[in-house]
Amino acid sequence: MLVIKSIPAFRDNYIWLIQNSDNRCAVVDPGDASPVLNYLRQHDLILETILITHHHADHTGGVTELQRHYPKINIVGPDNDPVAGLTHSVSGDEQFELFGTTFRVLDLPGHTLGHIGYVGDGKLFCGDVLFSAGCGRIFEGTAEQMFESLQKIAMLPDETEIFPAHEYTSNNITFALATEPGNEALLFYREKVNRLRTDDQPTLPTTLSQEKQINPFLRTEAPGIVRSVANRTADSSAIAIFTALRRWKDDF
Ligand SMILES: [Zn+2]
Repeated sequence: MLVIKSIPAFRDNYIWLIQNSDNRCAVVDPGDASPVLNYLRQHDLILETILITHHHADHTGGVTELQRHYPKINIVGPDNDPVAGLTHSVSGDEQFELFGTTFRVLDLPGHTLGHIGYVGDGKLFCGDVLFSAGCGRIFEGTAEQMFESLQKIAMLPDETEIFPAHEYTSNNITFALATEPGNEALLFYREKVNRLRTDDQPTLPTTLSQEKQINPFLRTEAPGIVRSVANRTADSSAIAIFTALRRWKDDF
């Protein structure tokens, strides 16, 4: 079984470290090398693999420096996103082995055009596509692409653990409550998140079943959500609701 640890970076990024039962490990989206190198040193670990979800600098900025320390490292990343220095380019539905566990690549365009996620061992590493109680900004793709990427995630088993790349949960909850003030699961979740943040603890990972109860971007069918955007779109299709929510969040 794989053990996952969070390495905080910058203001609110998490670099997820995937640890094997021996001292080998992988990291996801190392935007900065130094916190990773410190962690590896402190825990006597050897970095074998880097997984990249998309090209943004806060997800890739540490790759070159890590490769200098570990010249034989595998650098896995998206075929369709401009990420320099990959040793393995992958795209949707490709599979590969990591420490004896099969990981599958999901194409998740929207935040960037070539954004991918990695699912294996009941865990999803989804970069900047899905956050707890929110979703990524649409920088390169269309609302349709982002909506379909989120739907693809929603098809995974409910118990899937989700590892996004940012600690945005508190802010996202404020917006989620504006869209669905009476959502009791969300009010309950806010208390839990407040306690964790007061203790300086991560709110992540989350689970898909949790997100289906509290994340407005996965709840475009919920009557409260539909009502909350009624003054923003005349169209009641799921994609229209999603698009209205995303625009609302952009200006929130
Ligand atoms: Zn990004």
